[in-house]
Amino acid sequence: MAHNHKRNVGPMLASPRCGARTRRGTPCRAPSVSGRRRCRMHGGAFGSGAPMGNKNAFKHGTYTREAIEQRFELRKHIEDVEKLLSNLTSPSSGADQ
Ligand SMILES: [Zn+2]
Repeated sequence: MAHNHKRNVGPMLASPRCGARTRRGTPCRAPSVSGRRRCRMHGGAFGSGAPMGNKNAFKHGTYTREAIEQRFELRKHIEDVEKLLSNLTSPSSGADQ
């Protein structure tokens, strides 16, 4: 069998490499799994690692930025309403302020 066929391996070699530190101390040269930074041997395998937009610690969302903001806004509204109510019940004291 004659080996005169020129192989087109350019795109294959141009693919991003894993780069994980191997036991020899050199970076891993295996191609990284598509959509991930590491190869299949170094944590890039399907089903491994945290899900996209890591929600591992998310339980109820009480301390999300949105929930905290919402409580802050609600507290401000309650303060406004209480101020308004105190002005309505005692208009003389509310008028001076
Ligand atoms: Zn690797």
